[in-house]
Amino acid sequence: MPGLGGAPGEHGGGVNRPPRGARFPAGLDRLDGAAAAPATPGVRSGTHPPEPLRPQRPLAQAARDAARQTSVAGLGLDSDTVRQRMVQRLRAQGISCEPVLQALARVERHRFVDTALATQAYEDTSLPIGHGQTISKPSVVARMLALLHDSERARAQGALGRVLEIGGGCGYQAALLSLLARSVLSIERLRPLHEKARQNLHGWRQGDLRLMYGDGRLGHAPWAPYDHIVAAAGGDAVPEAWLEQLAVGGRLVAPVQDERGRGQVLVVIDRTASGLREQRLGAVHFVPLKSGRE
Ligand code: SAH
Repeated sequence: MPGLGGAPGEHGGGVNRPPRGARFPAGLDRLDGAAAAPATPGVRSGTHPPEPLRPQRPLAQAARDAARQTSVAGLGLDSDTVRQRMVQRLRAQGISCEPVLQALARVERHRFVDTALATQAYEDTSLPIGHGQTISKPSVVARMLALLHDSERARAQGALGRVLEIGGGCGYQAALLSLLARSVLSIERLRPLHEKARQNLHGWRQGDLRLMYGDGRLGHAPWAPYDHIVAAAGGDAVPEAWLEQLAVGGRLVAPVQDERGRGQVLVVIDRTASGLREQRLGAVHFVPLKSGRE
């Protein structure tokens, strides 16, 4: 599969006026075709089970947000326009899944990366998010989400339904997923990144998005089955727990070590009424799937 060359990290862009569609962190309007919002939309966070977010931003966080806002505005870029250009480039690369492209046009990627990297946020490049981890380049994220959107379930329902994300990182892909799914559970094993995603998504009012601190290799059985499972970190094999927690008609997309030891490939696994069907797509390069929590 062309263009699946990297997952570790990316950036860029700025805002000098409020973007037309997306308001972040104040919330987003629902995309056409997405499922109805649950009674209590927004982000929740925690371990097992996730706790509700505090209603107020701490003062220090509010100050950081304000500083970030100013510095992005100071770049003199209109992030809405820059995102639209990014989407045009993705279209030109052959990504044609409209709901995914619309989600990419709306989520302000520059808010998920360090201010110093904000000018690169809308280039097709992976970017560091700290703690040795990276946010995947937009074309890789787009292709993975488009693969999910092409599952039997998504084609039948027009949306992603219940999603499990492993490797929440800074929360960017979780935000995209929340525009495409009825509910999203995003698990991250590094506490500082879990906290960062929580901050980045503070005030996010889209759908039912929950952030969990834990070892995603185990999935989260109490809320299974999931219509879609997507991993942003690759291990030697797809953990059994993910397969067990995948709904019939559902799809799993994950990087996995190639059997011949030649790096990672992207695996797509569909659970059909008669069993599992696996496809191996092109080479990818994601951070390792690790065990335990830190
Ligand atoms: N989707 C993320 C990408 C983050 S990079 C984003 O948009 O930012 C992949 C992440 O997977 C890293 O943060 C890494 O800590 C995490 N990870 C690796 N192994 C994991 C595991 N077993 N459980 C949960 N997260 C894991």
